[in-house]
Amino acid sequence: MSAGSAEPYEVELAMKLDIEGLTVEYGQVAAVHGLNLTVGHGELVALVGPSGCGKTTTLGFITGFIRPKAGRVLFDGVDVTALAPQRRGIGYVFQDYAIYPHMTVRENIRFPLDAAKKERKQAERDVDEIAGLMGVGNLLARRPHQLSGGQRQRVALARALVKKPVILLLDEPLSNLDAHLRVEVRAEIRRLQLDLKMTTVFVTHDQSEAMAIADRVAVMSDGNIVALTAPATLYTRPPSLFSARFIGSPQINIWATDGPDEALARRVIQPLVRDGGAGLLVGVRPEDVEIGTGELEAVVTLTEPLGRDFLVHLTVGPSSIRVLVPAEEGQHLKLDDNVRMRIEPSRLHLFDAATGRRVEIDAAGARRLDESAQGDGGLAS
Ligand code: ATP
Repeated sequence: MSAGSAEPYEVELAMKLDIEGLTVEYGQVAAVHGLNLTVGHGELVALVGPSGCGKTTTLGFITGFIRPKAGRVLFDGVDVTALAPQRRGIGYVFQDYAIYPHMTVRENIRFPLDAAKKERKQAERDVDEIAGLMGVGNLLARRPHQLSGGQRQRVALARALVKKPVILLLDEPLSNLDAHLRVEVRAEIRRLQLDLKMTTVFVTHDQSEAMAIADRVAVMSDGNIVALTAPATLYTRPPSLFSARFIGSPQINIWATDGPDEALARRVIQPLVRDGGAGLLVGVRPEDVEIGTGELEAVVTLTEPLGRDFLVHLTVGPSSIRVLVPAEEGQHLKLDDNVRMRIEPSRLHLFDAATGRRVEIDAAGARRLDESAQGDGGLAS
């Protein structure tokens, strides 16, 4: 197959996806610049990032609806940049699941097969199979207005999957569902994606959704990927300041060794560094701060019951700290209580204040930049 050739597009399951050097501009706005991404066969990569960072633009490029200023997209190593969208064999589901209101569920799911002129009996068998997998097999005779939001979204997914797409693109597919249903449909999507070994790009602005569903998470900021790694690594060894702040709720505590938080920052990293730690940002996740023990003295400024845990806000001198403690401890804490606090040095995350890149400290106390990490502007981000 070659881009733009007249040969029919060969559809096989699970192609490898490569995006190389993608740059997209809308007039003066550089929406994406120089983005590279590989999604392996049967892998699910979640693109996550704040509103406007370029997630939808990147998907639009994969589908072929958005023309880039520069860049290529390859399916299993074949350049498809010039191939028309309808010939790429992609399945996609967007936030506002556009299923046709005048068609039954069966007709909706069958629609892509009818458009491809698939033989009717085989098409019906395919519809039954995918509808069964998506749990809508008993709804085939209904029309969309007779379905719940979750059911409609399952129908949209079934329609995207019925053609056995080479790559599946999901753009905020759960955002119209309520919190419980989101978790349920998310698990169904993941189970199905693993069963069918679908190469999938899943766009979301919800970091916990990205972490839950993906093999790897690509954190986007300002038109580029600033971190790309397995969810557990992203959480336990965030490669950059932006990703450390973006992933995790409640958010990581960050203190600079120069500025108003200097005293606290320098004190907590003192066991790690020999040089006093100038130019560093010190991070600690709220669940990694111990209270009730240790040498630091803190004052309680607020407690928030979150169910299993309490989020406790403390101050040490001019610095603020968020701490997550089990509810049985948190419920005894009162406003203005003095508490002892300690942070195990191995739980600290250090970043270069100028570039935002993760910094490791070796046994001799020397700094080493994490080579796998890209900078993301440090404090400016
Ligand atoms: P969201 O999470 O809000 O959907 P996103 O990460 O998907 O955001 P994009 O929709 O890709 O972001 O937009 C990236 C940037 O390009 C934004 O600054 C946006 O305002 C801009 N943009 C997107 N589409 C257009 C357009 N058609 N014309 C001009 N600017 C655009």
